[in-house]
Amino acid sequence: MGLINTPTAEQIRIVITGLRNSGKSSLFNSIIENNIAIVSDIPGTTTDPVMKSMELGNLGPVVFVDTAGFDDIGELGKKRINSTLSNLEIADIIIFVTKINEEITQIEKDFLDILKQKGKKLIVVLSFADKEFNNNKIKFFQNYDYITVNINDKNDIVKLREKIIKLSNYIEKEINPLDGLVKEGDTLFLIVPIDSAAPKGRLILPQVETIRDALDKNCSVVIAKENQLNIYYNLKKRPELVITDSQAFSIASKNLPKDQPLTSFSILFARKKGDLNLFVESINRLKEIKPGSKILINESCTHHRQQNDIGTVQIPELFKNKILRDVIFDFARELPAKQELQKYSLVIMCGGCMLPRNKILFRLKILNELNIPVINYGIFLAYVNNLIPRAILPFKKYLKF
Ligand code: SF4
Repeated sequence: MGLINTPTAEQIRIVITGLRNSGKSSLFNSIIENNIAIVSDIPGTTTDPVMKSMELGNLGPVVFVDTAGFDDIGELGKKRINSTLSNLEIADIIIFVTKINEEITQIEKDFLDILKQKGKKLIVVLSFADKEFNNNKIKFFQNYDYITVNINDKNDIVKLREKIIKLSNYIEKEINPLDGLVKEGDTLFLIVPIDSAAPKGRLILPQVETIRDALDKNCSVVIAKENQLNIYYNLKKRPELVITDSQAFSIASKNLPKDQPLTSFSILFARKKGDLNLFVESINRLKEIKPGSKILINESCTHHRQQNDIGTVQIPELFKNKILRDVIFDFARELPAKQELQKYSLVIMCGGCMLPRNKILFRLKILNELNIPVINYGIFLAYVNNLIPRAILPFKKYLKF
């Protein structure tokens, strides 16, 4: 899939980090062949992370991220360092930039220790390679995957790009929504409500990606609104899979044959972006939730809330009506700090279609460490519509249960 078709969230994320004034932004500009990042001799010019996508050989679509220096100072500096750390958390590849002509500092050594613990692919760029080499520095990095780079030398930039591309075999790429679920020649029947919550004049990302993936896999696709299910019965051949918007689960399950394989876009994305096993396992822990418990709804991006908004209205109401009335709901786009998070008995996440998978996996890791059950909207809506296990049966070869 080319760059135009790949959402930024699904591109391989290459994060450039280093001390202020180590040459990060000049390197970023040289790699992407553009002057997007502001370059200056004054330390701390890069404040918010700067991003640019490009095609990079076998790696396919990648996004380079230039971050603020991890030695930034002051109150704002602290915030920038936190932003750099968040970006490193979701990186696939980290490029650590340090000047070849200067001694390694203690702050760099400490930071490298943090980076090593993250277990990500790390390339060290010894920048300013046109200056005199500091032998101690070369010695320090001899066991790292390093490269010397003079950003004014195009050959150096080409070599660095080639070094990054060589990591392609080690990077886990995000799967496509239908991988392993369909085969060439299958027919898919998609139920897509066009109601007041649907964006004007377009389909939402999970629907678009699923349709594109079905076409890539040489499947045919029939799309109908939830009030047009007669189209299903007019088909000459029964579809191998029906995929519905989670909000039409109930209509779909009532109106389609009981043995028709059925799932939802949101469950496709629960596997693609998160950990389907963990979500399903958490369903079994709903019975542990006690009266008075707090539940966090984690909806990851901003949108104009409709009257009957799924995250703030429908899910809390369904929970109270079908599981337990006496609970308190909170809402957040980012996960709160661990201490704050501990007060929750359950987290219900949106499909996360706009987020990099690494970001969702990082959230799941934190919740797992705190032993807090976590489910996504699709799994929750399937459960309250009595569609577990039916809605997860198409994934049975991926499930532990
Ligand atoms: S990231 Fe979450 S809230 Fe945003 S569009 Fe995707 S599913 Fe909806």
